[in-house]
Amino acid sequence: MFNKYIRDRQDEIITSVLESIAIDSTEAEPQEGMPFGKGVNDALEHALKLADQMGFKTANIDNMAGYAEYGEGEEMIAVLGHLDIVPIGDGWTYDPWGEIVDDRIYGRGTLDDKGPMIGALYALDAVRSLAGPLKRRIRLIFGTNEETGSRDMVRYNETEETPVMGFTPDADYPVIFSEKGIARITLEKKINDGSLISAHAGKAVNIVPDHAEMTFLGEDAKVRALESTGIPAHGSTPELGKNAVSDLMQKVVESGASGDLKYFADFYNKNIAFETDGASLGIACDAGKFGRTTVNVGLLEGDGTHIKITLDCRYPAGEDFEQTAAELKEKAEAEGIECVLHKNVQPLYIPEDSMLVQTLQEVYREQTGQDIDPVVIGGGTYAKAVKNIVAFGPVFPDQENVIHQKDEYISIEHLMKNVEIMAHAMYRLAR
Ligand SMILES: [Zn+2]
Repeated sequence: MFNKYIRDRQDEIITSVLESIAIDSTEAEPQEGMPFGKGVNDALEHALKLADQMGFKTANIDNMAGYAEYGEGEEMIAVLGHLDIVPIGDGWTYDPWGEIVDDRIYGRGTLDDKGPMIGALYALDAVRSLAGPLKRRIRLIFGTNEETGSRDMVRYNETEETPVMGFTPDADYPVIFSEKGIARITLEKKINDGSLISAHAGKAVNIVPDHAEMTFLGEDAKVRALESTGIPAHGSTPELGKNAVSDLMQKVVESGASGDLKYFADFYNKNIAFETDGASLGIACDAGKFGRTTVNVGLLEGDGTHIKITLDCRYPAGEDFEQTAAELKEKAEAEGIECVLHKNVQPLYIPEDSMLVQTLQEVYREQTGQDIDPVVIGGGTYAKAVKNIVAFGPVFPDQENVIHQKDEYISIEHLMKNVEIMAHAMYRLAR
């Protein structure tokens, strides 16, 4: 019903997307009334002005988020996305602020997430023009702080209405019905005997370190320096990489570490080594369709006073990770290793037979001809920021994922297909 209407607006859609892409909405120094900086504020104002011109009701939530809304009814369904971007980085072949080459629109945010969210306005326009009266209101929520902390949605949740259902086009297709919980745990030992001089690995806890280094005092009292290399991977899929810290810990023992350092390395090699499922640590969990626990040793740091590793643990919905972490703490501290749970983002789970997941799945199948079951992922998406939301699009399976990379792009066909899918999804959820 909506597709022809949407295709007829292709030029307008591209123009609006390019206008948004031209704005550098990387988080910057706060200014008066611009908590995430001027660029972020400009991108929000651009989207709200466009929505306003299209005749939708709009609201600005303390310059931290905004929304455009259409329809009547007690209940509201939402499409959640964001207008902030990550820094452009180096190495672009095309203009990071928007350039069309052949059938692709290049630029930071084309895929993540300005393209889909500006597109969502046109999807909403199609629904308004063609769908007739609906039972529920449809609200497009424009976040502005997804990339650097999601403080936008903390603010939204404080004062604004919670949708009864919704989706965020800020991840992948097909529907993601469950996202694992994410916990950060540190294991640390004091160094009291000079056995360690320095240790370092990892840039971020959610990446498998590809380099690790250590300087220490051997049992013969000579200074040794070791390095290890690994294979990087995302922290939610550590089994796809090779951890440089694990390699280093084996080498350290083989090279004659002593005292407190040897004690810690022995603990590491016995309880972690190259495992990525937490089995020997006693925190493994296989929850069938909800997936399995993964553990990535993301950071290593140490000096003459202590040695510490930070684990990025992803655990399936249904698991009581507070309890699991408490058991790990007991086990580690019995061996003189300090163990602290620093952060625990709860898993997301919306039943597969819920109207939300079923409807999105149906729309996806109808619009793409692909019959793929809803999936579970280890990564956390924007869906966790607001209740009753699942991730749905915009990246198709087998599509090159250029999010956060140089030369980020969305093909015009891909952009248009997303607008069509979103229009059908909004309509089905709201009718
Ligand atoms: Zn995003």
